[in-house]
Amino acid sequence: MTQLAGRTALVTGGSRGIGAAIVRRLAEEGADVALTYHRSPERAAETVRAVEQTGRRALAIPADAADPDAVVAAVDRAAAALGRLDVLVNNAGIAPYGPLAEVRRADVDAVLAVHVRAVFLASQAAARHLGPGGRIISIGSSFAERVPIPGWTLYAASKSALTGLTRGLARDLGPQGVSVTVVHPGDTDTEMNPADSPDADAARALSALGRYGRPEDVAATVAHLAGPGGAQITGAAVAVDGGFAA
Ligand code: NAP
Repeated sequence: MTQLAGRTALVTGGSRGIGAAIVRRLAEEGADVALTYHRSPERAAETVRAVEQTGRRALAIPADAADPDAVVAAVDRAAAALGRLDVLVNNAGIAPYGPLAEVRRADVDAVLAVHVRAVFLASQAAARHLGPGGRIISIGSSFAERVPIPGWTLYAASKSALTGLTRGLARDLGPQGVSVTVVHPGDTDTEMNPADSPDADAARALSALGRYGRPEDVAATVAHLAGPGGAQITGAAVAVDGGFAA
């Protein structure tokens, strides 16, 4: 697999879970990859080592997605360290949920900062580096399309915002030859949403296939969009949700 040979990528929140699987897959496809992390430096170092074992270059950058200056600096640092930037994957995310009455204003600010403001600012910064064939791929959620249980209003609202952001960026950056997509995972087995949690069977029942996704399922789609297969796909949302939205 060498469809990304000679390309470079930055994955936000690449220390664990779906982000780490994306980092590994892009490297397996031949890319040099930078990743950001916030609370998990050891996991970030582990992911860097995994990339280096494939013979590719890797770099871990501490950058809290809630800090706008850190977000922009991370993009510029990745481009400088890797020599260029071809692919940005906006993946960093959090999943606070609970009764509507208990959502605090600080929760609203935190979720919108990480899921919307950081994605906008990182994409804006990346646009200064991306050339023809460049890609911006954001990780949304199947809850952007359908919210089948209570307690997820804020999360769903923030992920839905990525649809408009993706369409707008596709128009802004199309003339530059950059394509922009959002990938909506369904329930995927990570520390955020373990496949053996008490709620997992109910979650499985909401999808058509009745199985939990693996981080590698999402990573495979991101790699496709980042490679030649993604050349004519922009402004689009791609579901990797086992038919959750069917
Ligand atoms: P996870 O296992 O909890 O991993 C979250 C990742 O995001 C970690 O690498 C974490 O880094 C990073 N992160 C969190 N807050 C950050 C911050 N403020 N600044 C920088 N990095 C931050 O979650 P996941 O399941 O892999 O989720 C990845 C993405 O997929 C998220 O956007 C999530 O909303 C989306 N998603 C997940 C599912 C699912 O079922 N798992 C379904 C739909 C969508 P540190 O540990 O270093 O802080």
